[in-house]
Amino acid sequence: MASEKEAALAAAPPSDSPTIFDKIINKEIPSTVVFEDDKVLAFRDISPQAPTHILIIPKVKDGLSGLSKAEERHFEILGRLLYTAKLVAKQEGLEDGFRIVINDGPSGCQSVYHLHIHLLGGRQMNWPPG
Ligand code: ADP
Repeated sequence: MASEKEAALAAAPPSDSPTIFDKIINKEIPSTVVFEDDKVLAFRDISPQAPTHILIIPKVKDGLSGLSKAEERHFEILGRLLYTAKLVAKQEGLEDGFRIVINDGPSGCQSVYHLHIHLLGGRQMNWPPG
């Protein structure tokens, strides 16, 4: 099986190409949804790196394959994603703290090209990250 880095290096599609997250949004494949509104979906990561590991994504990609593709028109959704991370952290009982991560591009080890915030918690994090 490819390493995280190999998977990230292999994936660099155009910014509007569909990804597996479209299938999750459209409920074509199962996921464990923990929060949903008209703009944002939050669901448990299939390969958790911490006791709590949730992905928070925009329902409409609008060119946001990654944070590096953000433009001024995305101000509202970017704020909403970050605020949703805070809401979900509270919902998950992460009173002692948590970490959010956005991987971008091959060097950032991004493997799914649909902007997502990782919310990680439930254990002590280390610094610097690997
Ligand atoms: P990385 O794979 O290096 O963490 P990303 O930041 O692009 O890169 O994260 C994509 C995340 O999507 C991974 O944590 C992966 O486990 C998760 N993932 C992939 N497919 C699914 C799925 N079907 N359901 C839930 N999470 C998924």
